[in-house]
Amino acid sequence: MVIKPKIRGFICTNSHPVGCAENVRRQVEWIKQQPSIENGPKNVLVIGCSTGYGLASRITAAFGSGAATVGVCFEKEPTEKRTGTAGWYNTAAFHQQADQAGLQYHSINGDAFSDEIKQETIDYIKANMGKIDLVVYSLASPKRKDPETGELHSSVLKPVGKQYTTKTYHTDRDEVHDVTLDPATEEDIANTIKVMGGEDWERWIKQLHDAGVLAQDCQTTAYTYIGKKLTWPIYGHATIGRAKEDLDRASTQLDKNYQDINLKAYVSSLKALVTQASSAIPVMPLYISLIYKVMKQEGTHEGCIEQIYRLFTEGLYAADPELDSEGRLHMDGYETNDATQAKIEALWDQVTQDNFHQLADYEGYHQDFLNLFGFGFDNVDYEADVNPKVNW
Ligand code: NAD
Repeated sequence: MVIKPKIRGFICTNSHPVGCAENVRRQVEWIKQQPSIENGPKNVLVIGCSTGYGLASRITAAFGSGAATVGVCFEKEPTEKRTGTAGWYNTAAFHQQADQAGLQYHSINGDAFSDEIKQETIDYIKANMGKIDLVVYSLASPKRKDPETGELHSSVLKPVGKQYTTKTYHTDRDEVHDVTLDPATEEDIANTIKVMGGEDWERWIKQLHDAGVLAQDCQTTAYTYIGKKLTWPIYGHATIGRAKEDLDRASTQLDKNYQDINLKAYVSSLKALVTQASSAIPVMPLYISLIYKVMKQEGTHEGCIEQIYRLFTEGLYAADPELDSEGRLHMDGYETNDATQAKIEALWDQVTQDNFHQLADYEGYHQDFLNLFGFGFDNVDYEADVNPKVNW
C-alpha cells in the first residue's frame, strides 16, 4: 500500500509505519548522544507511552538510563487494508529498538482508566520486573469510564465564567480565523476534572502500592501545561486548567498517603508542543506556531525528547531540583519567561490570515504535525509500497 496523509480537521486519520519508526529512531539516537542519566530509573511504568510526552519519557528511561519499561497505551491495530494509529507503529518501533539494545520492555494496549488494565499491568510487573521506581502518568484522553460507577465522562475544552472570542488556526484549511467559545457549565467542569484530573493517577498508585510493586523511594510524575496570559482563557483558567489543578491536589495527597515507601509525587509543567492532544485544542496550533518562530530565533526551541531529558536530569534525578511554590517541577521556563512572552504577544496582536506564514513558523508547525503520524521525513520513501500490518 502507498500511504499518503489524510488530514481531517486537527487530526490525520492514517499514519505511516516506516515514518513512525523514523520518528522513534531519531528520538532514540538523540538520547543516546546525551550523557546517561546519573542515578536514573531502572524499572519504569509509563501510562500513555505511545506518543508525545509519554513516548519521549519511555525512550528517555530506556535509552538514557537502561531502564526496563512497561507501557500502557490505547492504540488501533493495523489490518492488511487499513493503517494502525501512529502510537501503534511507534510502540512497534520502540520494541525493535529496545530489542536491539537488549532492554526489557512490555506494552499493554487497552483502557488505562479500567481496573482490568491496571491489574494486567500489576500481574506483568510481579511476574517479570523488580519493583517499579518511576511511574509516569502521561494520558491525554477525551473520555473516561469511571470504574466504580460505570459512567462515561467526557472532557470539554471551554472557558470558565464567560464566553471567549479569540484567534485560532485551522490546520486542515491553513486558515487563521476567529472562534467563539461558550463558557463551561458546572457539569462540564466536573466531567473534565473526572477525565483529566488526578483521580485516575491516584487510583493507579493505590493499586500498584497495594499490590506491593512500588519500590522504596519511588517517584511518580503527571504532566501539566500552565502557560501564560495568551493561553489562560482556553487552557490554564479554563476547564482543562481546572482538571490540571486537581493534579496538584492529587500529588499532595499521594505524598501523604505513601510515606511508608517515601513516595515522591510531582506535577511537571512542560512546554507547549505539537502533539495529537494539543492539536485538538483551539488557540494552541496558532500559539505554538508563533512560539516556534520566537523560540527558534532565541535558540531555545525543544521537542518532547529534549524536554523530557531535561525533566529527568534537572528535575526527577537532580540532586536538588528547583520546585515552585506548589511543589511542581518546571521545564517550561524558556517559553513562559516575560521577555519571550512579550515577543509572542506582539506577534499575536498582528497575526492575520494574510501575514500568518511570515509571522509564524508555519513550516515548523506543519512539519511537526506531519511527523506525529510518520509523514514528512526526508529520508522516508513515501512512494514505496509498504505493508501496513506491523505486529508488536
Ligand atoms: P498524546 O495525545 O501525544 O499522548 C496521549 C497518550 O495517552 C497516548 O500514548 C495514548 O495512547 C494514551 N491514551 C489516551 N487515552 C488512553 C486510555 N484510555 N488508555 C490508555 N492510554 C490512553 O498527548 P501529549 O500531548 O503527549 O500529552 C500527555 C500529557 O502531557 C497530558 O497530560 C498533557 O496535558 C501533557 N502536556 C502536553 C503538552 C503539549 O503541548 N502537548 C504540554 C504540557 C503538558
